[in-house]
Amino acid sequence: MMKLNIQDTFNKELPADPERANARRQVQGAAFSYVTPRIPTNPALVHTSAPVGNLLGMTPEDLLSEEFLRIFSGAKLLTGTSPYAMAYAGHQFGNWAGQLGDGRAINLFEVNHAGKQWAVQLKGSGATPYSRSADGLAVLRSSVREHLCSEAMAALGVPSTRSLSLILTGDQVLRDMLYDGHPAYEPGAVVCRVAPSFIRFGNFELFASRKDLVNLRRLTDYTIQHFYPEIQLAGKESYVAFFQLVAKRTLDMIVHWERVGFVHGVMNTDNMSILGLTIDYGPYGWLEGYDPNWTPNTTDRQHRRYRFGQQADIALWNLYQLANALYPLIEEAAPIEKVLEDYRMNYAVTYHEMMQGKLGLFLTFPEDVDLIDQLEALLQRTETDMTLFFRNLSKVDRLTWIDEGKEFLKPVWEAFYAPQDLVGPILQEWRTWMNQYIQRLNREQATDDMRKESMNSVNPKYVLRNYMAQLAIDAADKGDYSLVEELYQLLQHPYEEQPASEKWFVKRPEWARQKVGCSMLSCSS
Ligand code: AMP
Ligand code: MG
Repeated sequence: MMKLNIQDTFNKELPADPERANARRQVQGAAFSYVTPRIPTNPALVHTSAPVGNLLGMTPEDLLSEEFLRIFSGAKLLTGTSPYAMAYAGHQFGNWAGQLGDGRAINLFEVNHAGKQWAVQLKGSGATPYSRSADGLAVLRSSVREHLCSEAMAALGVPSTRSLSLILTGDQVLRDMLYDGHPAYEPGAVVCRVAPSFIRFGNFELFASRKDLVNLRRLTDYTIQHFYPEIQLAGKESYVAFFQLVAKRTLDMIVHWERVGFVHGVMNTDNMSILGLTIDYGPYGWLEGYDPNWTPNTTDRQHRRYRFGQQADIALWNLYQLANALYPLIEEAAPIEKVLEDYRMNYAVTYHEMMQGKLGLFLTFPEDVDLIDQLEALLQRTETDMTLFFRNLSKVDRLTWIDEGKEFLKPVWEAFYAPQDLVGPILQEWRTWMNQYIQRLNREQATDDMRKESMNSVNPKYVLRNYMAQLAIDAADKGDYSLVEELYQLLQHPYEEQPASEKWFVKRPEWARQKVGCSMLSCSS
């Protein structure tokens, strides 16, 4: 029997009077609404994550129990718990969207384990007051993507919400996957997400937009007290310190995304965690060819607002919206502006350090900026697989490296999608860059082995390439979950060599280049 240390005081402390019932409505003066998860017709377990179970104090056996299936599919409520959906607003694609809220997420309860507090949330368990015109459900396809990617990100060391389980509901859900007027039924699923908190920038924006200062202050005090205990100041100073730490955590998250080639796809302010966690895995994607202009989200194809290379700027834009929301508590522009201005400088420094790490440079020289700039330009000139390139770059051996023919590119050759195009001036530019890189490495004290080890700890060998997730989905749709498990296990150790899994250390296959689900994803989920 599972032993969950449920903490019931947590949600009662949430600010404002909660409302009751799932009926869709505008919710005033409340931070959340008590709701009842939908009872699934025929829940069936697809996959669980033992490490997340462990965080909550559950054993691997617990995760396979009938009790587990019932609780984490929404079929059974634990006594003494009061599930709730949170109220938030947000800016979507740059426009104010008003009240949004947990339209299909329901917090079941909070758990205390090993000195840590976790909020446990179902995604896809039915309508809430915040569902607007949608059904509150989720399909298997998007749930496989959320479950696998959350755990892959955590293993990569990227701050993220976690995923405990993926369960089929036994219900059919109608979705127009491509938004082209061809809706079809898909299997419904529920993912159980776990994080210290799911509070977003949008929670603050909601109260600020309604000039509800009482609740804005309560929400902010609550967030600081529970999740930013390092802030020991009071009043306005504490709010400035809070904003500063949120900006820092957000920036760190973005630089991690840039390091591993992750594109979130929908960086609306309601999808920005106040804890700097990657949250809401929708039409996300992984860079294959290194292209800062790439976005996986077809809904954003025209403006590419949320493209890979713009994520740091968008995070700053989102921080401006959070700043506006917090302003009534601070009532002074200067300290807020300082945080926003510092973001740019901090970003430049953090990004540069990250790139130095990817290149295996321990020392810092002024010329390194150019070396990195030139590499980024070159990676775009001929389609080059980001993951393969950086992982294999660590194989450059200064002593045996040969500057001849195309031999000089040998360690990274596999990363090029069209190696036949590497001729003439572009080949020459690569030669120049490689020569500069070797010279630069020669200025380091570290041995090649030390550099290799360091590079391999920041340049993953395995990421959840878009086509890999799609293969797992295609199999899962047929009732075969073995690939979900295989990819889950593979991505538990993304920095390790796994000789039996070399087949996943390859460029995106050509069939996946323009395939739905692999390079093109809509918000339909
Ligand atoms: P997203 O962009 O997917 O993070 O969702 C934006 C808003 O729409 C959030 O308030 C979600 O809770 C809500 N939403 C998305 N999908 C659904 C759905 N199927 N049913 C109800 N609400 C949804
Ligand atoms: Mg969202």
